[in-house]
Amino acid sequence: MPARKSRVAGPAVEVFKFGGASLADAANVRHAISLIMESRPTRLVTVVSALAGVTDALLAIADLAVRGDDAGVDVAIDKLLARHKAVATGVIGAARPRAALVKELSADFEELRALAHGVATLRELTPRTRDYLVARGEQLSARIVVAGLLSRKVKAQYVDAVGLIHTDGTHGNAFPDLPATDKAVKSQLRALLKRRVLPVVPGFTGGGRNNVTVTLGRGGSDLTATVLGRALKAQRVTLWKDVPGLMTTDPRLVPSARIVPQLNVREAAELAYYGAKVLHPRALIPLAHLKVPLFVRPFMDPTAPGTEISQRHTLQRYPVKALSIVRGQALVTVTGNGMLGVPGIAARTFAALQIAGISVTLITQASSEHSISLCVPAERSVDARSALEQAFALELSRRELERVEVKTGMATLAVVGLGMAGSPGIASRMFTALSQAGVNIVAIAQGSSELNISVVITERDAEDAARAVHEEFQLDKIGGGGLHADDRFDVVLLGVGQIGRELLRMLPRIRGRGKPTIVGLIDRSGFVFAPDGLSARTISQAVNVKQAGGSLVALPGAHRANAEQAVSWIATHALARPILVDVTADETLPAIRRAISADMDIVMANKRPLTAPREEVQALHALALRHGARILHETTVGAGLPVMDSYAKLVETGDKVLRIEGCTSGTLGFLLTEIGKGRPFSESLRDAMGRGFTEPDPRDDLSGMDVARKALILARLIGFTGELRDVTVESLVPERFRALTTAKFLSVLPEMDAEWAARQASAAKAGKALRYVLRATRTKVAVGLRAVDPSHPLAGLRGTDNQVVFTTMRYKEHPLVITGPGAGPAVTAAGVLNDILQLAPV
Ligand code: ADP
Ligand code: ASP
Ligand code: MG
Repeated sequence: MPARKSRVAGPAVEVFKFGGASLADAANVRHAISLIMESRPTRLVTVVSALAGVTDALLAIADLAVRGDDAGVDVAIDKLLARHKAVATGVIGAARPRAALVKELSADFEELRALAHGVATLRELTPRTRDYLVARGEQLSARIVVAGLLSRKVKAQYVDAVGLIHTDGTHGNAFPDLPATDKAVKSQLRALLKRRVLPVVPGFTGGGRNNVTVTLGRGGSDLTATVLGRALKAQRVTLWKDVPGLMTTDPRLVPSARIVPQLNVREAAELAYYGAKVLHPRALIPLAHLKVPLFVRPFMDPTAPGTEISQRHTLQRYPVKALSIVRGQALVTVTGNGMLGVPGIAARTFAALQIAGISVTLITQASSEHSISLCVPAERSVDARSALEQAFALELSRRELERVEVKTGMATLAVVGLGMAGSPGIASRMFTALSQAGVNIVAIAQGSSELNISVVITERDAEDAARAVHEEFQLDKIGGGGLHADDRFDVVLLGVGQIGRELLRMLPRIRGRGKPTIVGLIDRSGFVFAPDGLSARTISQAVNVKQAGGSLVALPGAHRANAEQAVSWIATHALARPILVDVTADETLPAIRRAISADMDIVMANKRPLTAPREEVQALHALALRHGARILHETTVGAGLPVMDSYAKLVETGDKVLRIEGCTSGTLGFLLTEIGKGRPFSESLRDAMGRGFTEPDPRDDLSGMDVARKALILARLIGFTGELRDVTVESLVPERFRALTTAKFLSVLPEMDAEWAARQASAAKAGKALRYVLRATRTKVAVGLRAVDPSHPLAGLRGTDNQVVFTTMRYKEHPLVITGPGAGPAVTAAGVLNDILQLAPV
């Protein structure tokens, strides 16, 4: 991120806010503390949310209390106390300060308990008491963070928000009195910062008249952070959240949601106002017209830039940059002829709802002025109706207004972007996309700012609607693929074993157009990722670490994750035609499914995903079809030989494959040719091992399972409906050797020599050659040792060469034979590379 010059005298000040979702447990709090510590020497003010779920838990306690459920209150408070104690214990190592903090927390909870029991006795919960109660969540987490910093020898101080954030006093939804807060912040925080003490402020809370505790509405810590940023003229405000940044839409709703790298403040404000949960609806008001940029950054990936929200206006190719969906809405409509020409109906509607404390998310007036509709949260719809019926009692009794109607089960969808004003046809594109998705539009509203268009739809349609609009405006390309050169395409490599490393060595040597950009590497330990492509240095470090038997997490900037999590994370970034390349031998189906769902293409050398149970494989292909994703796996059989490709061409030209046979194990091929020359089995196998032709434990090859998997993949091509267990497999490892350790097994190899010599002799006597052969038809698949006629093409195979023989309607008498080197990392990597290049944009 470019460093900006501070506009105020003195060193730069920054504000960090840690969101609730990010503060789930002790490990997360420690992570937050380390981020605070790493920010030095910047003068930092920290705002914290309550630990994840604590605000909800406190609200639930308040509800139990008004219902008089003392026992319930106690259980809930004990649970919360235990959770805070556990976090405190996990954050503070030293016994003394830890005990002090735990004592402080316990005392806090006892006060809370007394208060809740008081409420239970009275069965009354005023907004004021409720605020006092829920404010506790951020007070507790802030205390834990302060104690954690102090115990790490960092000068920090808890600063009470009640005396700092002055507000209009509205309980449950207070808004800061900006000038008063500016003053308080200057006098209280500046002094601390000057002494190099880091202030930690509980978010979400503030003070009303007479310093009564108030809260700023759900998600209010965002607002605390921006208010402080404003008052301090901060160099920047950073909101650390559980998402990679501000995204084109809620990623839980639309899997192809992408990070928006930069957003104008007005756009972000509009999005927040229209319910994008990622920012408090009024969080950006304090920063309007100021040059204080706001960053939404991923708590789990502090090296990623996240989203910048500032005065800039970039990404102009995207008239629409994001959309928000709010469910649980009700559409309230006031109808009547009396609206015609009567001024002030809209104003009175608003006023009535405001007095009732009901927020209106959207308002639309039919051009006939015959009706006015507005959206309110569904749970307030009954209140809304009675407030309006009261406000318009006279008009209703005179029949000037006909009725107030309420429709629940609604959702609003708002699209936002600065470029909309200048690009005609946005609305019609949106409506067309919605109607093509079969979504019924109940009402339409265009914001006066021309920065957004909103529609009301039924809740049932919400997801489809969001997806359709997201796709229409190509938001999955924002800031990434869509803006790169047309021939760019990205590769995520899953597996950095021998084949993976070979591939990484080959890639830089590709010439001409269509050179893939390696954006991510994943292994069992975690991953490294850079949306603009990993540097040559990182790639070579990765190759070295893996070569030496290490793990990717050892690399700078790496993340710990399983493959599926890694793919999920990577997929939140806008990539250019991304391809996931699986060169592992692991169970990677979940990761592959995730990649396809994020519209990645797949290249795999890994046989496991395609030899999974039939239903899963079918579901995978169906998923790929739905997403228009291509799956290439040429190297699952015969390494780089064009086996799949030949099959596809046969079928494309109308031929029908009846039977497939072949030798597809380079290891067994080598072994059997050596034995055929009269060498003992043990010697031949040791030779194969020495040349790196076998798995570390050669029984993995000798068991025939690898060939069985290849056979199943081929058989499934021609309609075999069975499973791996339905493949008849002849193992070359005698029963009595199967349970031995590898070392022991290797020491007893010569015991098998006699048996092998006998086999070889009887085959030779019949003029035949021993081969390990697969045979697949639609109904039967078997792999095992065969003595083949000298006239059979398989008899001519040498060394590690593979062969696949297709018997088809056309090639019935003389089957189609594909022969060539079919093993080893180099030929396999070349085959994988070929698949990758097949997917390159033309
Ligand atoms: P915090 O932990 O700071 O309170 P929130 O939970 O309030 O963070 O906001 C993050 C959540 O907002 C995400 O988990 C995500 O599901 C939701 N969300 C909704 N819309 C968006 C969006 N456009 N971009 C990112 N996240 C979004
Ligand atoms: N803890 C509060 C909430 O859950 C405020 C916040 O997290 O910003 O809404
Ligand atoms: Mg929030």
